[in-house]
Amino acid sequence: MSSKNDQLFARAQLSTPGGVNSPVRAFRSVGGTPRFITKAEGPYFWDADDRRYIDYIGSWGPAIVGHAHPDVVKAVQEAATRGLSFGAPTEAEIEMAELICRLVPSIEQVRLVSSGTEAAMSALRLARGATGRDKIIKFEGCYHGHADSLLVKAGSGLLTFGNPTSAGVPEDFAKHTLVLDYNDPQQLENVFKEMGDSIACVIVEPVAGNMNLLPATPEFLHTMRRVCTQYGAVMILDEVMSGFRVALGGAQSLSGITPDLTVLGKVIGGGLPVAAFGGRADIMRHLAPLGGVYQAGTLSGNPVTVAAGMATLKLIQAPGFYENLTAQSAKLVQGFSTAAREADIAFCANSVGGMFGLYFATEVPVSYDTMMKCDKTRFNAFFHAMLDAGVYLAPSAFEAGFVSAQHDDAVIDSSIKAARAAFAQLAD
Ligand code: PLP
Repeated sequence: MSSKNDQLFARAQLSTPGGVNSPVRAFRSVGGTPRFITKAEGPYFWDADDRRYIDYIGSWGPAIVGHAHPDVVKAVQEAATRGLSFGAPTEAEIEMAELICRLVPSIEQVRLVSSGTEAAMSALRLARGATGRDKIIKFEGCYHGHADSLLVKAGSGLLTFGNPTSAGVPEDFAKHTLVLDYNDPQQLENVFKEMGDSIACVIVEPVAGNMNLLPATPEFLHTMRRVCTQYGAVMILDEVMSGFRVALGGAQSLSGITPDLTVLGKVIGGGLPVAAFGGRADIMRHLAPLGGVYQAGTLSGNPVTVAAGMATLKLIQAPGFYENLTAQSAKLVQGFSTAAREADIAFCANSVGGMFGLYFATEVPVSYDTMMKCDKTRFNAFFHAMLDAGVYLAPSAFEAGFVSAQHDDAVIDSSIKAARAAFAQLAD
């Protein structure tokens, strides 16, 4: 008899393309039936067959304090009783803006939106509007949401502009996007020498989490800062994933880099749709209603989502929060690495704060190209062995994993135990 998950997946595919509302959820990369989730609490969630999993995706990042944290749930309930949406400003939005500016000092002013895609798209428009330039630079393997200009991969050869990675993105849009190699400061410098005066901005994930986990090198980020300043381009750090996830002040607080604009999402909504972009006040002043760059949203700064975000941001400021999160992620990846070594499997792992990467390779990858050489087939077998053992990893070899504050020693230890059995299975 098929499971409830199988039945729901078959039913979902009748009314929804591919049965899911965001492609990675469909398990296409790893094969098999996606789990339909019924409830979540702390480090766990349960599927439609009432099986419990230790969750290492945490809603792809937001669930940093664990699922259904009582403080967050209470804040949402209280806000909801006062009304769901007003389309007029509230004091809570000011408080959130003030808190973001305090926690991320490069942000002098901030605007709230509803998704990371919207935030990155708006930051690009702002950078173009503020500089009066059209061209943008992104890096292969970095994801910044699905705005047209950003769904672009490298063209063939240096100084050719990118090709759309999605049907429906006009070549005319993609031609303004130059796609360079992540962690290659020399190439970035060369491109600025060639055409720096026409580049509006550079956008980068300072700790990439969309080609598995791949931190930017300090030299790469420092070069970016220097050339952006020299040529008057806007440096945008996309911290939708790394913001409030790798450290309280985001990846920029670890690298000591001050970007012109920062894009945030995920954790700042605590599981509800809040994202933001902000930075230098002289750039932010180009936004409507002050300036000529238009940007708006019916549900921007929504009172219920802001309440969830504020409750989460309060919890992550607790003393020792990031020390604990960082230690638990490190313990997890060390445990996995030891287990793989015992089974003689070519595997390594890395973590930054509450983000981690698992690589079926002999060395931790340092570039997009080396990342793509990881053994995807082995990852898929490992993923399914872990899933069968009740540990839910990201269903793709090229996505980062996330640890929450509720992943205590017992949870980490039982995940490592499952990994030991999974690696042994792979070695057979
Ligand atoms: N930027 C980064 C770095 C992301 O990881 C994501 C989503 O995973 C986005 C932007 C897009 O955010 P959203 O899915 O909220 O639109």
